[in-house]
Amino acid sequence: EATVSKIAAGEIIENPASIVKELIENSIDANSKNIIVEIKGSIGDFIRITDDGDGMDESDLNLAFLRHATSKLRTVEDLNNIVSLGFRGEALASISHISKLEVLTKTEDSLTGLRAEISNGKIDKLNNVGLPKGTTFFVRDVFFNTPVRKKYLKNDNVEFNYIYEVVQKISLGNPDISIKLIRDNKVIMNTNSEANIKNRIFSILGRDIASNLLNNTFNSESYKINIYFSNNKLYRSNRMHQYIYINGRYVKNLEISKIIEKYYYSLIPLNRYPVFLLYLDIDPILVDVNIHPKKHEVKLSKDNNVLAIIGETVEEVLYPNRR
Ligand code: ADP
Ligand code: MG
Repeated sequence: EATVSKIAAGEIIENPASIVKELIENSIDANSKNIIVEIKGSIGDFIRITDDGDGMDESDLNLAFLRHATSKLRTVEDLNNIVSLGFRGEALASISHISKLEVLTKTEDSLTGLRAEISNGKIDKLNNVGLPKGTTFFVRDVFFNTPVRKKYLKNDNVEFNYIYEVVQKISLGNPDISIKLIRDNKVIMNTNSEANIKNRIFSILGRDIASNLLNNTFNSESYKINIYFSNNKLYRSNRMHQYIYINGRYVKNLEISKIIEKYYYSLIPLNRYPVFLLYLDIDPILVDVNIHPKKHEVKLSKDNNVLAIIGETVEEVLYPNRR
């Protein structure tokens, strides 16, 4: 049983960056406005994520680490209507199987906060502590009990960069949330809550990309498209700077990347991999988020013309006078 759990955990928790991703997404789901990510020592030794969100009371805590326990799915119909970032109820359970986990949390209404130590999906220790509203997850010794996985981690700078990328991607999708990343007491990234996506793009991706942005939007009953292109002639040899957000969540979708690349290349045959950010808000029923356990890959339903509309939106922004 323990082995099965550890293997299942590995499906979701591939490296320290996946822990950071799951925990930040939980913080966002809990309506946090400020999130701090602290990393210390060798990557995986010390990961601490503090938020100012809704927090958990004792009954929430008792459910949070059980596999398939999620507060975010109430009915079966909800499965086809997923709006929150998390919905599988597997992340915390998984993290508790492959690390030493501690949580500090307080809701608005509780008089005192709670501190819990968790291992293998169970709360080993629970006591009251004074805390502000919000939640801190403290993860130590990632993969301490799966030495093979640990051995296959890359060097610290590479693993840290994966974390940095995750934090950047999530930040670009949530301009209204302030996210701070600290490594060994040094602030690596800090964003204030920003009024708009443009400011956030500037503060995360920098002048090279953001100084010359082209923007176009499309609105209809069932979806909203907001696309930004860097109009600086940036050469990229891969899709690393293609950011796709569906309902606020960073996703990968090759169909979308390819249609944008196709239109872009036919108009500007310089660069196969344009730098862009696409924000698509769409009726969740038209998106299948379930195809990959890590939830990055999503599939769009065939019965809508969103891809074609994205293509037109691209054409319009690159050649505004053409139509
Ligand atoms: P899921 O996000 O799919 O529901 P998780 O295992 O990631 O599953 O989290 C389990 C539950 O723990 C969540 O449904 C939520 O109720 C609670 N939870 C996790 N992180 C937080 C947080 N930062 N603040 C408040 N509640 C949280
Ligand atoms: Mg989650």
